Amino acid sequence: MNNGVYMGREEIQEIQRRRLRFTLKHVAQNCEFYKKKFEGIDLEKITPEKIYKLPFTTKQDLRNAYPLKMSCVPKEKIVRIQMSGGTTGQPVIIPYTRKDVYQWREMVLRAFQIAEITSRDVIQITPAFGLWNGGFGFHSAADAINAFVIPIGAGNTRNQIRFIVDFGTTVLCATASYPLRIAEVAEELGYKPSDLPIEKMLLGAEPWSDEMRKVIEETFDAKTFDIPGLTEMGGVGSVGFECPMRRGLHMWEDNYVIEVVDPKTGEVLDEGEEGEIVYTAINREAMPLIRYRSGEVSEIVARDRCECGIEHITLKRIRGRTDDMIIHSGAKFYPSDVERVLASYGVAHYKIEVGKGVKVFYEGDATLLQKIAKDIREFIGINAEIVALQKGELERFEGKAKRLVRV
Ligand SMILES: [Zn+2]
Repeated sequence: MNNGVYMGREEIQEIQRRRLRFTLKHVAQNCEFYKKKFEGIDLEKITPEKIYKLPFTTKQDLRNAYPLKMSCVPKEKIVRIQMSGGTTGQPVIIPYTRKDVYQWREMVLRAFQIAEITSRDVIQITPAFGLWNGGFGFHSAADAINAFVIPIGAGNTRNQIRFIVDFGTTVLCATASYPLRIAEVAEELGYKPSDLPIEKMLLGAEPWSDEMRKVIEETFDAKTFDIPGLTEMGGVGSVGFECPMRRGLHMWEDNYVIEVVDPKTGEVLDEGEEGEIVYTAINREAMPLIRYRSGEVSEIVARDRCECGIEHITLKRIRGRTDDMIIHSGAKFYPSDVERVLASYGVAHYKIEVGKGVKVFYEGDATLLQKIAKDIREFIGINAEIVALQKGELERFEGKAKRLVRV
């Protein structure tokens, strides 16, 4: 199957140049917002290498564009909308044409190909089916390969486990924090999570550390894959997929131009420098966004051919979101950094409270308290107050977990 996964570098660059040129013309002609924004810029001269000359698009721009002010196609061509982000304020609406829905599906199919998911698999889709894009990308790809699909959606963990057992689910699609909730309820129901039939998990929608991966994989005796993606760029699985050699995330450069910038100055960063991922969608139709500030924190690992054979750019797995950065006593860190310490002791459930000081609550062995405090001091550089809790004391989540609380 050649669907672009193993495309060579030259071909990627050729397609990227062509699609970028086409997209810039498309948005400048059909979207007032970009028409104004690009005034005085010679778009003919903008190549992927020169894309930094264009202004950014922000989440606030999308809010201001409600309901469809940034759409580049007439309403008759729109087949669906999805929504991005928060529950408060003006909704961020992303319209899709038929072609956009297929583009998203094609990208998730690449993920399935890498993870070797086939028609023989039973795929249980636990993210929500609704305005938030969650379940749909998984569903359309699973449907396209004629797999046995269980489109159960979010919630009702007991029922999820019942279906995993009764239908023999081999692939679980979920937010990264959900498997360990499933494990916990499975145990309450008398199942050993590692005896469940799940072989592979595609996990995304929130940052999760390598240490948490170890806990999940050992608990279920299953292999996990990181599946990035954001509604603004199509949805979960649209932008890239984890390298099977675990070198990072391969981002589909024939569909997106990827940059990493300094979140403060907007300056483009080099390989190995951590910053915010900026996406330009070059194969989307209804609302392709140019230089979109994603808020995702990562860095470019490499641009050369990976050992796995993929030549698309490699990013580090996402460390956090710019809005979740915690600054305390001169240290800058993300919840995932605290998770790394906790998960290295097998801790699965935790909460970080940030006010005058930093408090870390975890469920588990209280005798680990001193060790955890010491590790956080050494790895992160802060003196946090550590609180051990009994099993079940922290709130559980069936979608994205809310582990950071600012008080
Ligand atoms: Zn690779």
